[in-house]
Amino acid sequence: MSSPRGAGRYAPSPSGDLHFGNLRTALLAWLFARSTGREFYIRVEDVDTQRSSQESAARQLEDLAAIGLDWDGEVLYQHDRFAAYEEALATLPVYECYCSRRDIQEASSAPHVIPGHYPGTCRELSDATRAAKRAELSAQGRVPALRLKAEVTEWTIHDFYAGEVAGEVDDMILRRGGQQPDWAYNLAVVVDDAFQGVDQVVRGDDLLSSAARQGYLAHLLGVSTPEFVHVPLVLNEQGGRLAKRDGAVTLREMGEPLAVVKQLATSLGMEAGSAREMLERFDPAALSRKPWVWK
Ligand code: GLU
Repeated sequence: MSSPRGAGRYAPSPSGDLHFGNLRTALLAWLFARSTGREFYIRVEDVDTQRSSQESAARQLEDLAAIGLDWDGEVLYQHDRFAAYEEALATLPVYECYCSRRDIQEASSAPHVIPGHYPGTCRELSDATRAAKRAELSAQGRVPALRLKAEVTEWTIHDFYAGEVAGEVDDMILRRGGQQPDWAYNLAVVVDDAFQGVDQVVRGDDLLSSAARQGYLAHLLGVSTPEFVHVPLVLNEQGGRLAKRDGAVTLREMGEPLAVVKQLATSLGMEAGSAREMLERFDPAALSRKPWVWK
């Protein structure tokens, strides 16, 4: 599947219509890929089976086409990739985790724990304790989560804008537990970027903190780490991430696609024009590093 030209991608989660900020990131991913002669793929990240829907994915694809983006090959759906995640998982050091969200919150308020990091509660349990905890969950119709037994606490990746970035790595979840054992985003994204030959990952800079985990996973899986290009988000006037509640923010609510493309161009500090016209003038060095504020 991989192309000798390299590839970029846009990988939306189909849990609602794309908003202006998502469209802007998609346009940037397309501009980066096309301006560097790469293929451009769309990957539907529907690993979260509760929140994803096929209808939402179809609407997202329509909206991406409506703003003038095109892509190569077939759209890849993560729901078709579970066997590949299973295969990758089998090569990684993992352990079962029986913690509830509450257990983790309580344990991670301890003084030596980095906030937001899994404190390692289930890493070194005896076989007998594991069997008892597994049976307890099983009686509730649930399965344990699977976590990576990480050997490092930090990993460095390269970002086009941010340069060398060292980020924290913890015993991340690879497969969620519960009644519906979903695959975790970090594993799916690394396996799929490698499978598709993606060597340029353009996405919102809220994911910069996940890049170290993904770089480490890529290392463990023996696949190459893509170049990351984390781009500024669109924020609302309160400084939060743009969301549906901020008003008419989706393409369908905003009106004519052409007018929306003009607004996208303005937000990128570019002259108004179609996506193709923007491609001719695109200069990544000129992109503002500040978030764009939605008004
Ligand atoms: N599916 C993720 C999202 O919609 C993006 C993942 C990525 O680009 O790595 O936030």
